[in-house]
Amino acid sequence: MRNESIYQQIKKMYLPIEYNQPLFRPPSEAKSLILQVTIGCSNNECAFCEMYKSKKFTVRKFEEIQKEINKVSALNIPVRKVFLADGDAFVLSSKRLIRIAKEIKEKLPTVQRISAYALPSNINTKTIEELINLKKAGIEMLYVGVESGDDNVLDMVSKGETFNSTKTALLKLKKAGIKASVMILIGLGGGAFSRQHAINSAKLINETQPEFASTLVLTFYAGIEHFKSQFKGSYIEMNTKELLEELRLFIQNLELENAVFRSDHASNYLVLKGKLGADKELFLQQLNEAIKGERKIRPEWMRGL
Ligand code: SF4
Repeated sequence: MRNESIYQQIKKMYLPIEYNQPLFRPPSEAKSLILQVTIGCSNNECAFCEMYKSKKFTVRKFEEIQKEINKVSALNIPVRKVFLADGDAFVLSSKRLIRIAKEIKEKLPTVQRISAYALPSNINTKTIEELINLKKAGIEMLYVGVESGDDNVLDMVSKGETFNSTKTALLKLKKAGIKASVMILIGLGGGAFSRQHAINSAKLINETQPEFASTLVLTFYAGIEHFKSQFKGSYIEMNTKELLEELRLFIQNLELENAVFRSDHASNYLVLKGKLGADKELFLQQLNEAIKGERKIRPEWMRGL
C-alpha cells in the first residue's frame, strides 16, 4: 500500500472491482452489486443497440469472478442484490451460473436476489428443470429485452428472436418461478410498422403476463443515418406525437392482470408508473393529455441523458 496514492487506496477499499467499461445495468439495479460474468453481448447484432459494440464477447474465468466476490466479502457490507453483467449473462450454461450463484450465496450470505439480462434464446436453450435449479440457486429475476412482438420488426432490426421464441422463453420462466422484467422499444419499426409493432407487442405481453413491463423510446445514439444503414428496410422516422400515439395504442391493447409498469427510463417523453391493469385508464388519460399538448413532457434535449 505504501507506494499507492491515497486515491488508489480509497478506490481499493470502496470500489474493489475493476470493471470492463462501458458497464450497463437496469435502473432498478442501482443499489445492486454488479458482477461481470461475461464481457459484451453474445449477439451484438441489434441495429438499435450500441451498448457493447466496443467489446468482443468473452466468458470470464470463474477464478476471476471468485476473486471479486472475495474482495466484496472482505468489506463486510450487507449486499442484498447482485446483478450479473454484461449484455446477456444468462447465455452461460446452467452449470456455470449455478456455480457462480453458489459462490455468491456462500461468500455474501445477505444476498436475497440475483438477476441478469437474458435473451429469449439464452432461456430456450435451458430445460425447465435447469431453470428451476437456477431459481433454487438464487436467480430470481431476468431482464428480457423483448423490444417488439412483431416478427417483421424483429427481423428488420436483427434481434435474432421472434414472437414465438420470446413467448416460449417467458412462459418457461413463469413455470420455473423466475420473475421476468420485459422491455418494449417504442418507435422501433418507424412510421410504417408502428401499428403492428404496438399491437403485436401488446399481444405478446398479454400472452405471457410478465411481472414487470417497461417501455423505452428508440434513441439514435450513433445518429439516425447509422441506424437506417443497419435497418433492413426503409425506416420512417416518427415525431414525438406519433411516438406517444404508438405508446397509447400499445397500452390500449394491453390486458395485464398484475404487472408493475414503468416508462421512467430517460429515453421516454412521458413518465408512467403504476400497476396494470389497475392504472390503465389513468395512463391513457395522461397520454391523451400529452398528445393534445395539455401535459408537460420531457424535452428532446433531456432524453437519453
Ligand atoms: S441482444 Fe441486447 S445487448 Fe445484445 S445487441 Fe441486442 S439489444 Fe444489445
